[in-house]
Amino acid sequence: MSKHLWAVIKQNRNSIWVDWVIQIRLRDCSIWTVKDNKGAWGWRKMLSLRHSLVSQIHFCVGNGDSISLWHDPWHPLGPLISRFPRGPQLTSTGHLDKLSVVIKDGQWNWPMITDIACLEITYMLPTISEGQDIISWKSKDGSFNTSTAYELFHPPGPKVIWSSLLMGSFKIPKNCFILWLAIMGRLSTLDKPWLHHIGAPCIMCPDGVPETHDHLLFSCSFFPPLPCHHPTADPTSMAPPELATRGSMGVIQMAWKACG
Ligand SMILES: [Zn+2]
Repeated sequence: MSKHLWAVIKQNRNSIWVDWVIQIRLRDCSIWTVKDNKGAWGWRKMLSLRHSLVSQIHFCVGNGDSISLWHDPWHPLGPLISRFPRGPQLTSTGHLDKLSVVIKDGQWNWPMITDIACLEITYMLPTISEGQDIISWKSKDGSFNTSTAYELFHPPGPKVIWSSLLMGSFKIPKNCFILWLAIMGRLSTLDKPWLHHIGAPCIMCPDGVPETHDHLLFSCSFFPPLPCHHPTADPTSMAPPELATRGSMGVIQMAWKACG
């Protein structure tokens, strides 16, 4: 869906569908400011993505012939019509004018602006390049990239240093899964709310110690003690040092026994 939206933003007239969207759906509107409360469900969903994509799109202003002055987000403030609804009236420009009306000989040539609010427009103008306007995706070659679009909607989490314990060849998936549960502190120990109905202490210890995650891995008298003990910190940002020093197989053995 992001790829289709990108084709409309680029105004790729080689596509019959894009041509139809521009002629029928948009007519005199811009893809950036057309209202998203009309049309089919797919169309409205696609429009809902545009504000997420804008941070990934770069407008390089050239002659201004293909960029809408008031509707396209070429300005750091975004679509100017959204911020300055009276802008066309105050600057004596047309609502549908292209950016070329305020460019002359490769330089900005804005009409006299007397409204204080609209003066903000001219304070933050981007530089003008030679040639035509270029609308590009922020990637190495300027073309649409599915992976970067995916990351816009699903930002990657923090990189953890224990990923090598779980990733790679010759790893047993079931063991890796149990190790992952152990690292994340999600083993089914008896302190978990959904196991409260059992209410039993650790079955390995004779003194009836409550079975918690820390007890199972670090202080249960049935298993040999680990080299050092630090209560588990934020498992998503750092590795539990005990798990790393102990090695994956040792932890897997303990976790495997714990899971029966
Ligand atoms: Zn125990």
